[in-house]
Amino acid sequence: MINIVLFGKPGAGKGTQADFLKHKYNLVHLSTGDIFRFNMKNDTELGKLAKSYIDNGDLVPDEVTINMLQDEVEKNPQAKGFLFDGFPRTIAQAEALDKFLAGKNQEITATVALEANDEILVQRLLERGKTSGRADDQDEEKIRNRYQEYNEKTAPLMDYYKAQHKFYAVDGIGTIEEVTERLSLVLDTFQ
Ligand code: AMP
Repeated sequence: MINIVLFGKPGAGKGTQADFLKHKYNLVHLSTGDIFRFNMKNDTELGKLAKSYIDNGDLVPDEVTINMLQDEVEKNPQAKGFLFDGFPRTIAQAEALDKFLAGKNQEITATVALEANDEILVQRLLERGKTSGRADDQDEEKIRNRYQEYNEKTAPLMDYYKAQHKFYAVDGIGTIEEVTERLSLVLDTFQ
């Protein structure tokens, strides 16, 4: 069983790459952003709770996010492994995930970061915002707030996983195929 965390700033291409990697490595893809958006679209209690945070580009509180993620893992008892996309995003989430997986005699295998320059990413997100319909992609101030959240709360996770010898970084700039190839070189070592 391999459990991978796909790590990277908003717009770095996590979702695009996850779509390829989940098939290639037979993993269940869990994107907390997608799960929140599904709940917002269906106007569930969870969706209502998360909406104002997400629309402003703030992180949703840890407790809500951790419980939601754990529920999704429990819904997939047959999984051969998970591809976590957009989770964890804080140290508290990473610690909760480690503890949760340990309770199932499992662990995170590796964390792979897609690296890219902020200015390129902001332009990518503004472009995506023209068609994604996402409020958090359409306003440069909200986008910049998402980067601030990332730098303050998510970037420290790199050291967290480095200390566990589970951190890998790949260049996220290039064609989709080139980036998939770079990620595969890392993930193949765990097959
Ligand atoms: P994403 O699609 O991964 O860019 O996530 C979109 C938004 O969902 C983020 O800007 C946050 O508001 C929220 N979100 C997604 N994942 C998390 C997480 N692990 N912790 C807190 N908020 C999250």
